[in-house]
Amino acid sequence: MELNKENPSKSAKPPSPSGCKINIHPQQQEFQFNELTLDSCFDSGNMANAVRVTESQYQIWIAPDCAGTPRETTYQTWFYFRAKDIKRHSTYTFTIKNMNFQMKLYNEGLLPVYKTSSNPVWKKIEAKTLSFSKQEKGLEVSFRYHFNPNDEEVFFAFTYPWSYTEDQELINQYEREYKDDSEIYFNRELLAYSKENRRIELLTITSHSKKLEQREPMLPNLFPGSTNTSRPFLFNKKYVFITARVHPGETPGSHVFRGLLKFILNKEDPRAQALLENFVMVLIPMLNPDGVYRGHYRADTNGLNLNRYYTNPSLSEHPTIYATKQMVVHLNSTKKLYLYCDLHAHATKRGCFVYGNSLDFRQQVETLLFPKLLSLNSQYFEYESCDFNEKNVNVKDRGDGKSKEGAGRVALYKATELAKCYTLECNYASGKYKNVLSSCHLSGSSQEEEKELAEGETPDNLTVEKANPRDSYYIEDFEEIGEGIGPTLLDMIKANPSSRIPTSTYRNLKNVKLNLALNLFKEPPYRFDVYLRKLNKNITKNYDTLIKYIDENIKTDPLQDGRKENNRQRVSRTVPPQIKKRPLNESRETTATPVPPTEVRGLKEIKVINILPPIRTSGALESINEKRKQRPTKPMLTKKPTITLPPKNGFNFVKRMMKG
Ligand SMILES: [Zn+2]
Repeated sequence: MELNKENPSKSAKPPSPSGCKINIHPQQQEFQFNELTLDSCFDSGNMANAVRVTESQYQIWIAPDCAGTPRETTYQTWFYFRAKDIKRHSTYTFTIKNMNFQMKLYNEGLLPVYKTSSNPVWKKIEAKTLSFSKQEKGLEVSFRYHFNPNDEEVFFAFTYPWSYTEDQELINQYEREYKDDSEIYFNRELLAYSKENRRIELLTITSHSKKLEQREPMLPNLFPGSTNTSRPFLFNKKYVFITARVHPGETPGSHVFRGLLKFILNKEDPRAQALLENFVMVLIPMLNPDGVYRGHYRADTNGLNLNRYYTNPSLSEHPTIYATKQMVVHLNSTKKLYLYCDLHAHATKRGCFVYGNSLDFRQQVETLLFPKLLSLNSQYFEYESCDFNEKNVNVKDRGDGKSKEGAGRVALYKATELAKCYTLECNYASGKYKNVLSSCHLSGSSQEEEKELAEGETPDNLTVEKANPRDSYYIEDFEEIGEGIGPTLLDMIKANPSSRIPTSTYRNLKNVKLNLALNLFKEPPYRFDVYLRKLNKNITKNYDTLIKYIDENIKTDPLQDGRKENNRQRVSRTVPPQIKKRPLNESRETTATPVPPTEVRGLKEIKVINILPPIRTSGALESINEKRKQRPTKPMLTKKPTITLPPKNGFNFVKRMMKG
């Protein structure tokens, strides 16, 4: 391609009404050409330079986070620009010249997205117009777009955007709608200001039931301009804390978040009502609004990856992280915090999955329960892709060399000892497979829900359908995961009025927990643990005892749920002396706790439930929603189902699926 040496001069126009200040935001620029104008002068825009090669070919250069400052980073992936004043309505080729090497994403189906002023819905660029190649300056990504006369403005982006302005508008709209609602309790607060004085929103959403007269206390240095009376009321319920967008480019996190909001606020859905009856949802939609506004990929205004500062956040340097940690620690001190989850997107590992912590056996079963149940409630959430490996805590970032010790999930676990601390990740491009969901079961016959597996019956694992590798994610797929979080929380506490568990292969919550526990017995470090091996040997003949054992942690008492007792007390109470000496993984914080000897000795009549390896089948999707049906048909799994025969002794652990 012959490069036109004539570099267009920067627009002499004053900053656009959208607030583009070129000297402050080097990512946000405007370039006028004969055929059209290209600009990124808007919230989340990123296009540092545009070069005309021919009348139909343009090169786009991305600004790295904190471009032109001493804190300039190497993060250079997010692009978002607009074409306007289009004088020649024909096909144009845009080539992103200097992206980080995100080859994997494009190989796995990522496509740039576009939106026009006449049809403001994000769509994918046609796959056949995309090409990409590794070049010296970075990854080059080219795509074509045909402008038609209706196109006054067309926006192009790395993936589905979600800006600070859009976030503010959505919150404003919800606040207007639900502020004085008789069913939904909706409280909006200014938790803190970011470094550049943008709002960090804190939403508290629940129903009016179990509302106490007192209000939440003011916390030091937080809630600027607030008074005691603007803080939300206290509720005698479990609290779920969810945050998003600490990494600005990770917009799928915002779409998961929106899916969750959509679910929560749907008054027609009895599950949403049940969710708000049982839980208080405490939500921070945007942890790094400055980075989002500036069109950054990963850093804040100072070039910091804020998700590495949870260990000791500074009020002045990391105000949003400081505020989040204060809130989480405060809620934990009230013994009501049930679950913490931070929403992200991932560029290398495929699928939507969680990172969780590596804890002692019982806490680990508890940790696994949320992702396992989410995979029963969302087609796109992949339990098999989840990662609970302690090693990944110590892996250092390529960008800044910082490990995940300071990430929300790790640091907040250390501060609270809450087992259910997660980072939820959605690959930008695509997943490995898609769950086949069982149908919702309307409760009313609780006996049926409690139905045990008959002797000899096979409670196989969740059946999954492999997705086509080019079957990339749509915006609705990210939302679907958020919508699945609600029913998952209800399933965890057996309060879902329309659960999928009874119609799944597990039949009831107990079998889900058993499945998780039995699998864990096989995995390191638990399988090397002398005591657990002993326990496993004794327990295999009595699942009720195992359930009792793990449920000592997973209690139904709402305010005690998931809380680890003082470890020292517990050990001295229950662990026989020889067990204390067993080799332990030093870096684990706690020791596994055995079944009190009386329980083990008390085993008598034992009902053997066969937990067998899964049968993999292909099958028609039962609960696929109508919207997805209208999409281009995705190829179904054509392989014959693999059926694994039950082991000879009629008992085994359920094997993890999809490995290898
Ligand atoms: Zn992230």
